Amino acid sequence: MAPLPSRFSLFAAALAVAGRRRLPCHHGNGRPNPHASLGAAGRQSPSGDPRPPLPLPTAPAAARTCSGAGGRAETERPGEPTALLRHLLLKLRATGPVTVAEYMREALTNPGQGYYTRGGGIGESGDFVTSPEISQIFGELIGIWYISEWIAMGKPKAFQLVELGPGRGTLTDDILRVFHQLASLLSKCDVSIHLVEVSPKLSETQALMLTGGKVQPNSEDKSAYMKGVSKTGIPIFWYRDIQDVPPGYSFYLAHEFFDALPIHKFQRTEKGWREVLVDVDPEVPDHLRFVLSPSSTPATENFIQPEERRDHVEVCPEAGVIIQRLACRIEKDGGAALVADYGHDGTKTDTFRGFRNHKPHDVLRAPGTADLTADVDYSYLRKMTQGRTATLGPIKQREFLKNMGIDLRLQVLLQNSHDTQTREQLLQSYDMLMNPEKMGDCFNFFALLPHQRLLHPDKKHNPESKSPVPPVAGFDELLLK
Ligand code: SAH
Repeated sequence: MAPLPSRFSLFAAALAVAGRRRLPCHHGNGRPNPHASLGAAGRQSPSGDPRPPLPLPTAPAAARTCSGAGGRAETERPGEPTALLRHLLLKLRATGPVTVAEYMREALTNPGQGYYTRGGGIGESGDFVTSPEISQIFGELIGIWYISEWIAMGKPKAFQLVELGPGRGTLTDDILRVFHQLASLLSKCDVSIHLVEVSPKLSETQALMLTGGKVQPNSEDKSAYMKGVSKTGIPIFWYRDIQDVPPGYSFYLAHEFFDALPIHKFQRTEKGWREVLVDVDPEVPDHLRFVLSPSSTPATENFIQPEERRDHVEVCPEAGVIIQRLACRIEKDGGAALVADYGHDGTKTDTFRGFRNHKPHDVLRAPGTADLTADVDYSYLRKMTQGRTATLGPIKQREFLKNMGIDLRLQVLLQNSHDTQTREQLLQSYDMLMNPEKMGDCFNFFALLPHQRLLHPDKKHNPESKSPVPPVAGFDELLLK
């Protein structure tokens, strides 16, 4: 069946032509550099002035199509192990091999030397670039998604927007611009922003982006470690854990967050399932290698399903716990969650990989200096909601964005750009997000919604009603099938 003409596209077209403000990038001397660029392409300035165009990354789409925020993590000195590798070598020699999950956690979020702890590498000058960094349209359409869900759910008097792993803060910044432009709609709604971020460096970058640096440590309320007010007057709070975010009607957002959480890896052998572990390589000094556990481990017992057919499986229990929490919170307090990431529906096997300077990187080399990631298993996320919420998707990024009205938004921005370079950048960034060979097919959208959201109002009183389910923006086609 053909999709309904999307009313969400009209929102997209109606947005003003405002663009992002530039974020001064921090350099080694700690002083903002006003000449540094954000590394995003295809955006327009508030005045409509063209930005100097920037080259788009050309990394293969199946890879983490991305590029580095704030300060860059420690670089490897040839022949010398990094501080984190030295720490891991000592630990492995003392206590034996560790799970891939433990290794990944250390590499990404070790409190002193983890890749994200030290600032990560999101952006043109870093290791990977994400969709919100590529085009302002991406965040705008997500902002519209939340507004349309808020309307569909009867315009509650207040909502919290909770973003998990906000990176440089670009996505929330674009969403806040949409909220500001649709301020007349939201005028009676009490909106607050809640960011879950473990990296102190990245939370500084986010604070600069969203508040212009006007933040304060939050000593009175222990759950949030920092608070501030957005450039548009909305309160913002920072937390280390989703559990610290206060309860209440909330819209959750996780863009390229779940892929950064630690995975366990398992291999089927003749003797049954074994866990893949990380150990010191006895043949090459200061190198690591993968080994198999000699027998089953608690993880092989708990995480492999009896009906599993694959020979190699990755499981991310932390993602399961977080999804379970989101589902409980949505069931109890209302709201919705939007997850966007590359992933699969329980079909892929070995997806653990590393990125440095936009190129694939050996996951076991120089931990702490490269991004490590694994595809999100949406079938596992769905299972972990335990039926507390309805789930929609995964749907391909290009389908979701099309349903959200990306074509109309692009046309509006093209019509308002006055030079060929800006127009070319807009078209290139559109292509990066939508082309099936780039980010269009491998990135997916997935949503958690309260069950009652998908029931037509008539059905509550008349279960026989044949009326269609009211559309959920972006997922229209799924509901119409
Ligand atoms: N959403 C952003 C950034 C993605 S990178 C974007 O799309 O551009 C992953 C983000 O998750 C970073 O901000 C990183 O610091 C954060 N992160 C990684 N592990 C985390 C954890 N366990 N808890 C909270 N944040 C985490």
